[in-house]
Amino acid sequence: RKLVGKLTTGCTEFDEMMGGGIETQAITELYGEFGSGKTQVAHQLAVNVQMDREHGGLGGSVIIIDTENTFRPERITQMVNGLSEKYGMELNPEEFLQNIHVARAYNSNHQILLVDSAVDLANELKEMGKPVRLLIVDSLMAHFRAEYVGRGTLADRQQKLNKHMHGLLRFGDLFNACVVVTNQVMAKPDAFFGDPTRPIGGHIVGHTATFRLYLRKSKGEKRIIRLVDSPSLPEGEAVVAVTTAGLTD
Ligand code: ATP
Ligand code: MG
Repeated sequence: RKLVGKLTTGCTEFDEMMGGGIETQAITELYGEFGSGKTQVAHQLAVNVQMDREHGGLGGSVIIIDTENTFRPERITQMVNGLSEKYGMELNPEEFLQNIHVARAYNSNHQILLVDSAVDLANELKEMGKPVRLLIVDSLMAHFRAEYVGRGTLADRQQKLNKHMHGLLRFGDLFNACVVVTNQVMAKPDAFFGDPTRPIGGHIVGHTATFRLYLRKSKGEKRIIRLVDSPSLPEGEAVVAVTTAGLTD
């Protein structure tokens, strides 16, 4: 087993809550309602992971499986400029963008297949000296949720989801990479998961994700992030800000 790496979130409280940062060889789930900042955190991690270890990064590249077409290159540029400012360095946003490999997933089957493609790509990038240290799925459940409606199809959905989650875990282990998935909370109670503040995906996602983080809006640009589930860390909350420069204290 390789040594677990830790990726900085760029936020002191958030890093501390996570015992130093987002872990490799694990799935970290970001869940919360729309606008709570899940996609923002994902973009920030895609930037931070490219930094060297001295700056909390893992010196690696990124693969994003984008199911809702919410990846924004110009947001990456803003965040790289934010880090340039923070560290007094001249970082080139174009270089960061070149190390972010985005694949659109058109349905849940395609989404599952893209994890296999990600393995192939990560093997190539490893040989090129650009190891993938972060795999993002934003959002994990959108297609599954839209495609599998009604009780009759639930077992089928859970089986596919289980396969998907294990593909993601395997990716994290194979490449010593962080795996970050986003998930919405249910807008209204449903038959299987009655509590509207619980993420979608039921026990499959819940049991496979190593760390579960619940994001919620606070005043203005502030967001509260709660560590809900972790194998070794105490529950806790961290306050962060989503600003033009990115995720900050
Ligand atoms: P969804 O469930 O709809 O995908 P989400 O949790 O992914 O929601 P985000 O897209 O991460 O939500 O958050 C959107 C919010 O992030 C915006 O409402 C705004 O507050 C903030 N935000 C986005 N871009 C910027 C920016 N360039 N500068 C400052 N804040 C921004
Ligand atoms: Mg989003």
